[in-house]
Amino acid sequence: MRAELLMVGTELLLGETTDTNATYLARCLADLGIDLHYKSTVGDNWVRMTGALATALERSQIVIVSGGLGPTQDDLTREVVAAATGRTLVFDERAWEEITRLLRGRGRPITENNRRQAMLPAGAVRIPNPVGVAPGIWLDLNPRLVICLPGVPDELRAMMQETVMPRLRARTGASPLYSRVLRFRGIGESALETELMDLIERQSTPTIALYAGSGEVRIRLTCRAGSAEEAERLFAPVEQEIQKRVGDKLYASGTEPIEALVAKALTVQKATVAVAESCTGGLLGERLTSVPGASAYFLGGVLAYANDVKERLLGVDKETLKSHGAVSAEVALQMADGVRRTLGADWGLGITGIAGPGGGTETKPVGTVFIACASARGNRVVHHRFVGSRDMIRRRAALEALHLLYQALRDFDPA
Ligand code: AMP
Ligand code: MG
Repeated sequence: MRAELLMVGTELLLGETTDTNATYLARCLADLGIDLHYKSTVGDNWVRMTGALATALERSQIVIVSGGLGPTQDDLTREVVAAATGRTLVFDERAWEEITRLLRGRGRPITENNRRQAMLPAGAVRIPNPVGVAPGIWLDLNPRLVICLPGVPDELRAMMQETVMPRLRARTGASPLYSRVLRFRGIGESALETELMDLIERQSTPTIALYAGSGEVRIRLTCRAGSAEEAERLFAPVEQEIQKRVGDKLYASGTEPIEALVAKALTVQKATVAVAESCTGGLLGERLTSVPGASAYFLGGVLAYANDVKERLLGVDKETLKSHGAVSAEVALQMADGVRRTLGADWGLGITGIAGPGGGTETKPVGTVFIACASARGNRVVHHRFVGSRDMIRRRAALEALHLLYQALRDFDPA
């Protein structure tokens, strides 16, 4: 059973809206074990939409259309589906009842164009919309199937969860796809591939895919299996072989962001952290506090941009600032240790660097960042030379600070 996505909306082609629906729908299909072979995007245009739908119906059994179900003249999905499948549009009383009930409940006026949203291609079944006005369309052309969902992400997701996923699961009965993500640091994508080349060339079940992420390389193992336990049995030997060869570079598995891994480690160790940020201007604190429950381990931070603030609030030594400069390993360490002491935390992180585009020198070019991690058990400092825009350098610095802390937490883990 092959599926295809047809994303409708001129805003997607203009780059105004990020196509999060496609990512979400692709994940749902993978969970269901339905192969997705094509995804296309088309503007709100009758001719191009009809052409794109006809192409999709020629090569795929299941076509999921996102968008174009609104009440206005540029919402053409209903009409296009009816025309492309040789059907008329019929007024659906149940759909109309729900639409009017919802609009009344929200105190919104009911206008003539809302009636368009109650029109369904003949023979189609309405997909209830628990959070919005537009109903979806389930049109069974046996063996083909067309599913239309509104573009509003919350509505599309709710309808997938409540109606579409259960119906598709019952219809296809395919084994779901399982995947496992292994994350590596300190090794590049090409070096990692070289280490595993024979495994990659021989791969069948699970399949092995490498991809570079921000500050790390990931391997994704994927297989089709009847149960999570069966998938586990298929993953185990390949994972063990990977462990044997490059296990020292493996730092995590799964897809949780690094701040969530840090949060877990701090919680388990009942430890707290405080941050002193210069060039990242609060990005590190932002990431640490993005995890729910951060108050259990995050005490606070100091945005020490000016040298005077570094001295007064963090106790950075005036002489050190003069002799080594604000962007130096020594100052990063004093910032980390200073904030740890001032705020009474177990761990302190300090970041100082040159985010650019100006301010670089021969010895300290733009992208030079020192990150330090301080604790009662000892201190660490790392020197980076990041490349890219000011924004990239700042984000990368915050990311690397989280990794520095995570590595230290693992190395010092009392358990
Ligand atoms: P529509 O159902 O076409 O009227 O879409 C309603 C709204 O949903 C649009 O104005 C967009 O803001 C949003 N939207 C449409 N398509 C997508 C998509 N593929 N991904 C994320 N948001 C979307
Ligand atoms: Mg639209």
